[in-house]
Amino acid sequence: MPVSEHYDFVICGGGMSGLSLAWHLNHSALRDRKILIIEPDDKNKNDRTWAFWEKETGPFEEILTRTWDHLDFINETGQKRTLDIYPYRYKLLRGIDFYHHVLNEIKNNPNITRLQDAVEKIQDGDDKALVTTAGGSDFTAAYVFDSTFRLSLNRPENHNLLQHFKGYVIETAEPAFDPEKPEMMNFSVPQINSECRFIYVLPFSDHKALIEYTVFSEHLLHEKEYDEALLDYIQKSGIQSFRIVEEESGVIPMSDEPTEEFPGKRIVRIGTSGGYTNPSTGYTFRYTQKRLAEMVRALEIHGSPYLKSRWADRRFSLYASIILNVLKRKRHAAGDVFDRLYGRNKASMIFSFLDGETGFWQEIRIMNSTPVFKFMAAAFEVLRLRLSRRKK
Ligand SMILES: Cc1cc2nc3c(=O)[nH]c(=O)nc-3n(C[C@H](O)[C@H](O)[C@H](O)COP(=O)(O)OP(=O)(O)OC[C@H]3O[C@@H](n4cnc5c(N)ncnc54)[C@H](O)[C@@H]3O)c2cc1C
Repeated sequence: MPVSEHYDFVICGGGMSGLSLAWHLNHSALRDRKILIIEPDDKNKNDRTWAFWEKETGPFEEILTRTWDHLDFINETGQKRTLDIYPYRYKLLRGIDFYHHVLNEIKNNPNITRLQDAVEKIQDGDDKALVTTAGGSDFTAAYVFDSTFRLSLNRPENHNLLQHFKGYVIETAEPAFDPEKPEMMNFSVPQINSECRFIYVLPFSDHKALIEYTVFSEHLLHEKEYDEALLDYIQKSGIQSFRIVEEESGVIPMSDEPTEEFPGKRIVRIGTSGGYTNPSTGYTFRYTQKRLAEMVRALEIHGSPYLKSRWADRRFSLYASIILNVLKRKRHAAGDVFDRLYGRNKASMIFSFLDGETGFWQEIRIMNSTPVFKFMAAAFEVLRLRLSRRKK
């Protein structure tokens, strides 16, 4: 039955960022505020696996499936580099473990309500926002956090690539994986159409791993192309006997479309909707935790979730656009770009760079390890596109 009610906070979409926000609120001085999460799905499937690098102890340490200190990088010729990623660790969290953990925790807080419904409209106001659902309910809130807003991803003045992938979790009859070392990027697969294509392997044990075929391009492949690439890789790895126990596929936007985290006085966009996805890598999980922790802290101290953007954020968004331009315009083989980045710099420096945490001189050093003239050509085009965007 449709209802009409006021909450302190309404969270639209109870996926990764929505549930993360609920978790951070539940661990803050605001845990007694009236909170509503609106989500149509019951979140009881393992629909994604998050992997991310992190130096510090994160909020979900106890439910991680695995962590690693080393990663393998394999270039187009099959040459392997083992990267020591200290002081970072590479962490793996299964979607289903995250959903269960957060949902179990918040159900003990009587101030947090979950509603199985879909958000239809969100309207901003001076002192509250209004959320209307498909089921006909109306909710007002001091702040509405929206993870359902869809980016348009089709404006010609932006770089709009997709990171698309399919993965199998396989169990093998014989030991087939080194459980201590995931393959972060294995470029020794055909670089069809000169697109960035690689295999990603997360080993759970010597008999079990998630193997993903990933492509950065403008268009998705036919389903059977992912399958063929996966089976080809498995066969070439010498694995004779295996069974597929799970499948995962996904599409992550890799776009420099400008995002608005604070589109209104009372509306805050979070997660991919709020621009938390790194445009040049697709990684989203760790930044979401960092940003939402800061936002909840701001709410505790000032009563407002508003956070200023740092000057450095603009610098890093420019770098991301340049990388996207190199990939989209196929200015240089992607495998060689990443080979140079990881071969000529410490992995920890590349990770801090991708997290937007390096200093200017480190960035110059990283830029110097790329094919400089091609990156400069990309930089000029990006600046031209940005100027044309401003004039519109
Ligand atoms: C298969 C896959 C693997 C990924 N792996 C990684 C990884 O390894 N590392 C990493 O950092 N990132 C990864 N990502 C990227 C990113 O972390 C995820 O996409 C993440 O789930 C984004 O969080 P989100 O809250 O923005 O979106 P979601 O988690 O998708 O949450 C949005 C929620 O909104 C709900 N919703 C949609 N419409 C409505 C509506 N009208 N009303 C109410 N609710 C609605 C949806 O049901 C969903 O639950 C991956 C993405 C995918 C798809």
